[in-house]
Amino acid sequence: MNRYQSIKPEQKYTVRQFDREFPAEDACLEYVKERRFPGGIALCVNCRKERKHYRVSGRTSYACHACGNHIYPLAGTIFHKSTTSLRTWFYVIRLMASTRVGVSAKHIQRETGVTYKTAWRMMKQIRKLMGENITLNGPVEMDEAYFGAPDANKHRHLLRQDSKATVFGIVERRGRVVARVLPDASKDSILPVVGEVLPPKTMIYSDQSATIEQVRWMGQSHKLSTVNHSERYVDGYAHTNTIDGFWSLVKRGIKGVYYQVGIGYLQSYLNEYAFRYNRRKVMRPMFSLLAERTTMQVCPSAREERLLARPE
Ligand SMILES: [Zn+2]
Repeated sequence: MNRYQSIKPEQKYTVRQFDREFPAEDACLEYVKERRFPGGIALCVNCRKERKHYRVSGRTSYACHACGNHIYPLAGTIFHKSTTSLRTWFYVIRLMASTRVGVSAKHIQRETGVTYKTAWRMMKQIRKLMGENITLNGPVEMDEAYFGAPDANKHRHLLRQDSKATVFGIVERRGRVVARVLPDASKDSILPVVGEVLPPKTMIYSDQSATIEQVRWMGQSHKLSTVNHSERYVDGYAHTNTIDGFWSLVKRGIKGVYYQVGIGYLQSYLNEYAFRYNRRKVMRPMFSLLAERTTMQVCPSAREERLLARPE
């Protein structure tokens, strides 16, 4: 089940390629600028027109060619107000997109020279870009697992009262995965996820008879009659190797790397693993997608809003 090794050479994104593409700070800034304001064309809040903007040397801004008003491509992104260089950010994004079982804050500290705390914060921000809502197509496997605090004896101070977390996963065979932290493995917790992720009549394999019973109940429920997941489980095919493989990948990663994962952070780690798993054959697009996501969902600054709101 070593699927990450099947990455084709042309799909790899090596350090050398990265260095060529982003040799220095400017190239990274230019990348963000091009994503947000292609060709430097942006609405100038002062002119109230689409204007061409030019790089202001020594700053992270670009100036309107007509009035000189500045735009800041980094504003509203995870890079904004960070004292860490943009190139280091990009480098860490590449690391997180190309690792197989996860990368530690310690490793990032060693590779980039930022402090442990900074590395940890950067990872947390990048992980936020990895969440996604997808639906899956059958046949799928589903299963729950329980994640305890690893090395419980060594890290007793990190343990809370109920440190076992219930996680629930659905995976396409040879395909993508959805993994969620749930309060428990009851049908009230599981069925909404099933209803959200799977179309009706999806063929499901699971070796948890309890889970299957719950899904079957859903299929017969009048309240949820649009969804019918209960199909027949054919013996030879009724295995859960795929989802088991995913859980062991995550568990190995958390054990070796994220040994301090608290339950509060577990979902974002699951998102990170699922993000990579779902793109395991294409590293280059994985980096691009993450880098692109850094430039999405950015809002105008307070100053820009003020200028836009002023009367004509
Ligand atoms: Zn202007």
